[in-house]
Amino acid sequence: MRRVVSGRIVNEGRVFCGSIEIDGDVIADIEEVDAGSAALTPDIYVFPGVIDEHVHFREPGLTEKGDFESESHAAAAGGVTTVFDMPNTLPGTTDRTSLREKLALAHERCLINYAAFIGATDDNLDELSMIDASMVPGIKVFMGASTGNLLVSDDCTLHEIFALAAKRGLPIVAHCEDAEMIRANAARVMEVTGEDAGVELHSQIRDSEVCLSSTRKAIALAEGHGARLMVAHVSTAAELEEIALHANVKAECCPSYLTFCCQDYARLGALIKCNPAIKNESDRLALRQALGNGGVYCIATDHAPHEMAVKQGGAFKAASGMPSVQFSLTMMLQMADEGWLTLPRVAELMCHHPATYFGVQQRGFIRRGMKADLVIVRHLDEPHTVTNKDVVSKCGWTPYSGMQTRWQVEQTICNGVTVFRLGGLTAAKRAAQQVIFRHDA
Ligand SMILES: [Zn+2]
Repeated sequence: MRRVVSGRIVNEGRVFCGSIEIDGDVIADIEEVDAGSAALTPDIYVFPGVIDEHVHFREPGLTEKGDFESESHAAAAGGVTTVFDMPNTLPGTTDRTSLREKLALAHERCLINYAAFIGATDDNLDELSMIDASMVPGIKVFMGASTGNLLVSDDCTLHEIFALAAKRGLPIVAHCEDAEMIRANAARVMEVTGEDAGVELHSQIRDSEVCLSSTRKAIALAEGHGARLMVAHVSTAAELEEIALHANVKAECCPSYLTFCCQDYARLGALIKCNPAIKNESDRLALRQALGNGGVYCIATDHAPHEMAVKQGGAFKAASGMPSVQFSLTMMLQMADEGWLTLPRVAELMCHHPATYFGVQQRGFIRRGMKADLVIVRHLDEPHTVTNKDVVSKCGWTPYSGMQTRWQVEQTICNGVTVFRLGGLTAAKRAAQQVIFRHDA
């Protein structure tokens, strides 16, 4: 079946008026048209479908928080056509069997394209060496974090993991927070305030030093073994400076760290409690500035939904993590309106770079012959205020509630099939395809 999509196309450094012809699940042709063409609706922009390379869709095992169906609906509503799920589910995705089982679940239930990271543990080196590299974007390493059962604590093992990743050409995505420092900070806070510590103290327990120390360690391992490293959810100015010194190391950032800072605990409380913690205003400013200057390489969400019931309490009690996948594109486009980055740069950070870095085949660009993954967004005259009523995720809330954006996702096309249309979700499950990777960098 053939169809045509028209608008201001944002792709590979350019914004131009054009129409895209889709044939089945691929882009058959791209035609540049005159800005005055009758076929063009003003204020309609077409981007490549967003590749969110860091989500927690909570399946298997944590489906009270979210599942492939609910969260992929939310993703589609946000213009996301491809997600890479993180391994801290139950069971953890740490061997070939659990990976195969997770991908089978996604195949059955995910509305959009999917892949899953394999997680490193203290004792799964065999599995990491035997995994089919074309099925995984890379290896996720928790360098001492709290978000699951996947903490790699042994330095010897870390050396072996980085050496193996380098040998196999697999990128490492690392969660960098120093577990020892967190423990020491937590003990100090506990002594002063007891277990009812206010949620704002979360940012003192998991402070900048905690991140920088661990990021430095990961960089040293990557440089030592010649491995490619992406530091996940960079939250501090100090890490950006460190990462900029190393060509083989890239920074992933999330809309949450670009939007919120410590002052927002007063308004949002535990809703913005996450790991790494939200940092200072100066960190947020440095991260925003790095959107335009290359310091940030990818934008992903770290979408981590929780039921409202567990987002109660202070630094020691509330669950860490927040949903984001539905609003990442519109929030980044809003930042473009505010001058932090250009529209082509949004496409680069959210589509082109994740595709190139992870060796995603056939996606991430608007090119003839590639898969027809597209998002159509409208630039509104009047700003839209986000509310919890907009939320598609199972958790039913968003930290972005009350914020304004002049961008709205009108339609999301995945493999040539409309999987979201504003005003009514389309249940076109069979559009989803498993992502194939080629790691030859
Ligand atoms: Zn995460």
